[in-house]
Amino acid sequence: MTRSEIMEAIKEHNVNFFRLQFVDIFGFMKNVSLPISQINKALDGMMMFDGSSIDGFVRINESDMYLKPDYNTFVVLPWRNKDGVNAARIICDVYKADGTPFIGCPRVNLKRVLAEAKDLGYTMNVGTECEFFLFQKDENRILSTRTNDVAGYFDVDPDDTGINCRREIIDTLEAMGFEVEASHHEVAEGQHEINFKYSDALTAADNTLTFKWVVRSIAAQHGFHATFMPKPVYGINGSGMHTNQSLFNLDGTNAFFDENGPLKLSTTAYHYIAGILKHARSFTAVTNPLVNSYKRLVPGYEAPVYVAWSGSNRSALVRIPSSRGLSTRTEVRSPDPSCNPYLALAMMLKSGLDGVVNKLAAPEPVNVDIYHMTQPEMDAAGVICLPANLHEAIEALKSNPLSKEALGDHIYTKYIAGKEKEWDDWRTAVTDWEINTYMKNF
Ligand code: ADP
Ligand code: GLU
Ligand code: MG
Ligand code: MG
Repeated sequence: MTRSEIMEAIKEHNVNFFRLQFVDIFGFMKNVSLPISQINKALDGMMMFDGSSIDGFVRINESDMYLKPDYNTFVVLPWRNKDGVNAARIICDVYKADGTPFIGCPRVNLKRVLAEAKDLGYTMNVGTECEFFLFQKDENRILSTRTNDVAGYFDVDPDDTGINCRREIIDTLEAMGFEVEASHHEVAEGQHEINFKYSDALTAADNTLTFKWVVRSIAAQHGFHATFMPKPVYGINGSGMHTNQSLFNLDGTNAFFDENGPLKLSTTAYHYIAGILKHARSFTAVTNPLVNSYKRLVPGYEAPVYVAWSGSNRSALVRIPSSRGLSTRTEVRSPDPSCNPYLALAMMLKSGLDGVVNKLAAPEPVNVDIYHMTQPEMDAAGVICLPANLHEAIEALKSNPLSKEALGDHIYTKYIAGKEKEWDDWRTAVTDWEINTYMKNF
């Protein structure tokens, strides 16, 4: 979008408020809201904020930072229409006072890694599948894990009472320019999925962030609490963010497709898979960033536990969906929707590219249900486990030089410090489980 197109859209939609948005390193969306009188200053990238108040950004003595808007992300917010007066938003890169991009901005960092891919002759395309739960609030608006349906995979209404809310989410997304491909009730009670069309990786990260915001906002209007927490309820499926990824050549053809290759996959696809598997343990602290993330990565709930790939097997970390041609892609099944999508894509792309650049060989696919393999069978197939908890994941992240290359020094250091603190808070907390299990007998 050009600046004059934005000005026209503002007039046409009677936009009175304007939000500048960005993300911190832990993936939280931040925004500043401006009256339309400030539009020129905002579009010039002259809107300043205090970077020292954002988790993981900068120290107090270097705190002036600027928001440089990406005009392509301008969109009117359909649910903010009030008596014909509208609000709009635009996503920004964070810049320093000296006019250079701030390397601690996750969006700036993803652009850096995407530029490396481009130098190698590739663009990255991504489609994320974010699952979520709709929970009820009690009469005091306190959150609960009570769902208001007992429906399951692909069930139809009236069992699926979230359907009206889901429909309004879809209408809203479409009004914002998303191409919604499908939506359905997921396996667990109260669990839903809405799929939107893939795009270039930067847009996909922006869209993932926007998607989560829309889902939570519309759900709140229906009286639900929507959560992307990876495992909100023990004993039923958690929520994943399967990340479909492919490399395209600069001429727009899919670099993973080869009519004559094994499974119609190119050597580039096999190298990319090898890179993903090689670095999977190290990128898990970023793709699965919460203490709670590791309660999802256990056998029996369609979430991966083991580092392996397969043409179809949903217990493997990497699945190759059956579509070919332009849709040829790897589906990495471990990420969950609590991750920062900019950092997660930077880590996974860098991992895949390591495979491509160094021509790493993919192991044999594992086409049996890995949950039922014995340890000797796994050892023979060279199958290892994902980290069992956030602590193991942070150690794996730290042990791999690729992590720092993918995140840049600033984000790498701040991210690890934040996550180590989170682990320590959890490690020293006394939980209900401990009280219930131990207090009576000890
Ligand atoms: P499944 O149910 O098989 O796990 P979905 O149909 O729910 O997968 O989601 C598939 C996702 O993959 C969609 O977002 C789709 O747009 C995306 N996709 C399709 N082709 C490509 C591609 N070439 N690269 C990346 N993503 C793709
Ligand atoms: N909810 C499952 C997970 O945690 C995935 C279900 C599916 O295959 O869509 O990853
Ligand atoms: Mg799903
Ligand atoms: Mg999937």
